[in-house]
Amino acid sequence: MFPGSSALRLSSSPPISERAARVLLLEADAQRRIELECLLQSEGYETLALGDADEVMRLAAEYEPDLVLLNMQLPGASGPEVCGELKAYDPRRHHPIVLFSYEDPDERVVAGGLLAGADDFIRVTERTLELRARIRVQLRNKRHLDALQRLRQERDSLRRDAQLDALTGVMNRRSLESEVISRCERRERFGALFIDVDHFKSINDQFGHEMGDRVLMDLADTLRSGIRPGDVVARYGGEEFVVLVAGAGPESARLVAERLRKGVESMPLPTRGPAQVAVSIGTAVFDPRSEDQSWDELLRRADAALYAAKRAGRNRVVMFSAELVPPVEAGDTCSVRLNRLRTVEEKALAFRSRSG
Ligand code: GH3
Ligand code: MG
Ligand code: MG
Repeated sequence: MFPGSSALRLSSSPPISERAARVLLLEADAQRRIELECLLQSEGYETLALGDADEVMRLAAEYEPDLVLLNMQLPGASGPEVCGELKAYDPRRHHPIVLFSYEDPDERVVAGGLLAGADDFIRVTERTLELRARIRVQLRNKRHLDALQRLRQERDSLRRDAQLDALTGVMNRRSLESEVISRCERRERFGALFIDVDHFKSINDQFGHEMGDRVLMDLADTLRSGIRPGDVVARYGGEEFVVLVAGAGPESARLVAERLRKGVESMPLPTRGPAQVAVSIGTAVFDPRSEDQSWDELLRRADAALYAAKRAGRNRVVMFSAELVPPVEAGDTCSVRLNRLRTVEEKALAFRSRSG
């Protein structure tokens, strides 16, 4: 191998700001190759020097160079051709390519190389100051671009995290609400299923909080795998989930809810955990033809239906219907009525449990 050539790397490495820059050199003439390698190493760079372009794609992928220094004339391949291939190989990775020549090449060839993706062209002479400076400038630009790319990736992953529930990885309540709002604004029909685990507290009490968490994760996976593209699953809070079913009317929302309920009932559970988990589901539909429906009222309706499913004995699906809402009083909105229903029911339940 050539002097100073470093071992090949198989994975991506720390950012260039934290290590020596790696330069891949392509020069056919052995004497010039050694001279250029020495020059690059005297600048503190690591090098991998090749005499032809035969294996350049494979080696570039393994070595992950920060810069490619490429002679315009290589045996069997022209610099611009190799340059185009290297750029096309992995367009997301920025590794500047600097073309060089010991002769004065035709202006059109240089222009062709730059247009094929090269970042610069250098005419190599006895005086190496300019060559060194141009390489440094390219590496400086790469450092800036890499830093920008890392910041973008961090921003994207923070954005993703802010939209997801940390435990289950499904959408969180905040992004569910904005999803419901935008679906209502698009005036498309869809179903909302409010899902609540039955007697979840006793799972925690009997098997521990960690097992409770495990069950919630398994439940989220079951719901996620039971929906179609275009539908969404979200954790509304605690052991409550919401599924939005695109295009669904009342009957198909009920069918999807029933399928999910059965899926949960038969989902495999961790050993040393509960033998079975059941959910109650309330369904409601956003109908764009109905003027009086808002996004929060839709969720309240699904919640009221869920509440009815709990009252009717749990592990079942109940569709929202007007009977679930108490009679209208002067000045009532639907939400006021639903709140009143909850209050009345909760009082009744509390009373029943106090009286044994
Ligand atoms: P019901 O059938 O009426 O829904 O009864 P339930 O026991 O499921 O409902 P309840 O509201 O009484 O209890 C819900 C429990 O869920 C209480 C709370 O400690 C538990 N819980 C909420 N969030 C989490 C969580 O992230 N992990 C675990 N393990 N438990 C949670
Ligand atoms: Mg609950
Ligand atoms: Mg519950």
